Amino acid sequence: MVVGRGGYRFQNWAQTYGSNPELYFQPTSVEEIKEILDLARQRSKRVKTVGGGHSPSDIACGDDFMVRMDKMNKILKIDKDAKQVMVQAGVLLSDLNKELDKCGLALSNLGAVSEVAAAGVIGTGTHNTGIHHGILSTQVVALTLMTASGEILECSQSENPEIFQAARLHLGCLGVILSVTLQCKSSFNLQETHFSSSLQEVLDNLDNHLKSSEYFRFFWFPHTDKVSVFYQDPTDKPPSSKSNWFWDYFVGYYLLEFLLWIRLDFIVFYLMGNKRRYIIYTYSLFTGFLHIFRVCGWCAGVFLGAPPYIEGVFLGAPPYIQGVWVSF
Ligand SMILES: Cc1cc2nc3c(=O)[nH]c(=O)nc-3n(C[C@H](O)[C@H](O)[C@H](O)COP(=O)(O)OP(=O)(O)OC[C@H]3O[C@@H](n4cnc5c(N)ncnc54)[C@H](O)[C@@H]3O)c2cc1C
Repeated sequence: MVVGRGGYRFQNWAQTYGSNPELYFQPTSVEEIKEILDLARQRSKRVKTVGGGHSPSDIACGDDFMVRMDKMNKILKIDKDAKQVMVQAGVLLSDLNKELDKCGLALSNLGAVSEVAAAGVIGTGTHNTGIHHGILSTQVVALTLMTASGEILECSQSENPEIFQAARLHLGCLGVILSVTLQCKSSFNLQETHFSSSLQEVLDNLDNHLKSSEYFRFFWFPHTDKVSVFYQDPTDKPPSSKSNWFWDYFVGYYLLEFLLWIRLDFIVFYLMGNKRRYIIYTYSLFTGFLHIFRVCGWCAGVFLGAPPYIEGVFLGAPPYIQGVWVSF
């Protein structure tokens, strides 16, 4: 029998929102999730399911029952021919990416962090960039969910198609997602080209930039006209050695975090504005150097107590701008 824990304090990753659920569960099976929902119905409690807890809003907070899916994190099936993977809802993309890579597969697009769960990223419409790419929900070809009554629904374009469409961007309010099947592609390497430009130039030529690279994004350095532009494009070249722990973690994470902490933002901007060009495995490029985003989120929480886009507030960290199709 599944046991809920009292006295648990939930906080999202940036520590901007939290809640004190009455009972906190970490189920290990579908049967246990059903037990939790049965109990919630008997006691008229609301159930909130949590993945990686990375949402910057309070969307994962809840006061009644909280179900953390971190023990429902297995890869259930990899179909190499169809290039599809079926996972339990709580699997972290950081684990999934590694397993897919071993099979010569990869997700075609990822968000900036990978310590997020499969059901979590589709739930909020997580996206990266690239005008030929949709949000991560568009990679979902099937999913299984348990409704509040304990019924299990298989959903895809051919089975429960309307629920499938809604559940691909469920916002945590369509029952508990149990498993997700994602369309992958053959693993690929990306070459990143990084250069400085002005905000005006990028805005004037936005269409060209979007078409010039498969994955285009830019950082705007607040209160200046400076931007840092990133082009990332598939390549057959092997990963270069330029990406390593020193740059990705020591400089890209710990040093930048320290500089931002002591408010030496201009050195951060200089380091980030340097021209670089390197090739790296897909999933680490999407999520590796971009540890700076963690720093941004952390700064926002510590210094402002809120995300850095409030009117009249000084932006101490560069926001990044991505382009992606949001419909599916
Ligand atoms: C540093 C950082 C960088 C980020 N970068 C990006 C980015 O590049 N692009 C982008 O689009 N977003 C980005 N985000 C936002 C993040 O990707 C999303 O908030 C994503 O939803 C987080 O996934 P999660 O597993 O942590 O979800 P959670 O925050 O745990 O949950 C998200 C929602 O899904 C629900 N949920 C979770 N699991 C289940 C389940 N099994 N069944 C039913 N409902 C469930 C929750 O109740 C909640 O409503 C970033 C966030 C951070 C902190």
